[in-house]
Amino acid sequence: MHDKTLTELAAGLQAGEFSSRELCQAALERIEHLDGELNSFITVTAEQALANADAADRAREAGEAGPLAGLPLALKDIFCTQGVRTSCGSKMLDDFVSPYDATVVEKLRQAGAINLGKTNMDEFAMGSSNENSFYGPVKNPWDLSAVPGGSSGGSAAAVAAGLIPAALGTDTGGSIRQPAAFCGITGLKPTYGRVSRYGMVAYASSLDQGGPMARTAADCALLLETIAGHDVRDSTSVARVVPDYTAELETSLSGLKIGLPKEYFGDGLDPEVETAVREAIKVYESLGAKVCEVSLPHTHLAIPAYYVIAPAEASSNLSRYDGVRFGHRCEDPTDLEDLYKRTRAEGFGEEVKRRILIGTHTLSEGFFDAYYLKAQQVRRLIRQDFLDAFDEVDVLMGPTAPTPAFDLGAQKDPVSMYLQDIYTIAVNLAGIPGISVPAGFAGNRPVGLQVLAPHFAEAQLLGVAHQFQQATDWHLKRPAFGKEMA
Ligand code: GLN
Repeated sequence: MHDKTLTELAAGLQAGEFSSRELCQAALERIEHLDGELNSFITVTAEQALANADAADRAREAGEAGPLAGLPLALKDIFCTQGVRTSCGSKMLDDFVSPYDATVVEKLRQAGAINLGKTNMDEFAMGSSNENSFYGPVKNPWDLSAVPGGSSGGSAAAVAAGLIPAALGTDTGGSIRQPAAFCGITGLKPTYGRVSRYGMVAYASSLDQGGPMARTAADCALLLETIAGHDVRDSTSVARVVPDYTAELETSLSGLKIGLPKEYFGDGLDPEVETAVREAIKVYESLGAKVCEVSLPHTHLAIPAYYVIAPAEASSNLSRYDGVRFGHRCEDPTDLEDLYKRTRAEGFGEEVKRRILIGTHTLSEGFFDAYYLKAQQVRRLIRQDFLDAFDEVDVLMGPTAPTPAFDLGAQKDPVSMYLQDIYTIAVNLAGIPGISVPAGFAGNRPVGLQVLAPHFAEAQLLGVAHQFQQATDWHLKRPAFGKEMA
């Protein structure tokens, strides 16, 4: 059962081949048996899940099954879940039990999906390797000495290992796409505003976006059509009709214009990654697409602009963790200032502190114009690069990340870690959607092909990814690891 896609499992439930209880039970047993080695879950909600699975089975018998009825999945531990710990990978929220559900959690529940638990992540979604989690690093199921990518590393590893068929992640600068690439699964970052951020713990609010991570583009389509849409509780969510993404998967690639940004094939790109990506593009050509080179001239400014804007927004968002209302509180504070200082010193990890310091600095009097305002202007240029490119081509393609998954502990310097996001970060600054699709291997580690499209063109993106998956089998490859090999 663990080798099946979400779409196949939905069909199996529909045909009565197995019940939701059997399906969820099997997934929970697999988590129990194998996750000790991966550490992909922070919290497993077994009891609640089985009760909900029984309810889904009853609803199906009564002919009232929703579109995702009885299907197990998991949520990055950044999504608020009523009555269940929502830690955001931080000691600060280690004992925080959310009093409400995020909008996407509510929507998944209404569609009948069963949440099996909360997945591990870099603290407050800051990182590219999942090594910044208070709950310890996650291992990559393809190679236990490698990182799964970050910050949605738990979701990516759990799906790749077949512990669950699908999960939600969030992407502020690459955190859905890069771990999807490192773990050999499919991950979609929707357009900014396509999916509600209500109840998603805020990191950098003008960049954060939740989205699906699964084996296939078809599975991502199924999830996106459930979670997308306007939400009165998130003023940045856009009031636009949600397409039937599943129905639009069968697009033809004939005449599709693909642009290859020359800046995405330059220095620093691992040769094996490049070979895999170029082979994938040949597949598209054989399916009738036309390929040309394009330029995104401000690409080199994306990381510097992001590392001004994201920490600035983070420093503001994270000011709420003060030990007064919720989350960690230091013991026996002598006065209010002592409470703030020790609570924050104890509750946050190193990387989070680094970003709060940078953000506080760049927003302070005398530096605001030089850094924050300048970065916003650069952001505008980066967005324009994409709009200009989409005047010439339908989609852009390139590698998701410059290298395959690196070894745990290999990136010692924060700046070299930041460079991991060189091909993903500009996409968040521009607000456009992007998907990472399994496209081969470098040694034993997966390679992701990134496909980008104009604002709100998720249907096209998913269709383009789906057609590739009809012609290749990279997304069907499975890792064998640890106890499973014994
Ligand atoms: N790696 C980037 C960062 O550390 C992006 C993380 C994300 O997308 N959440 O900020």
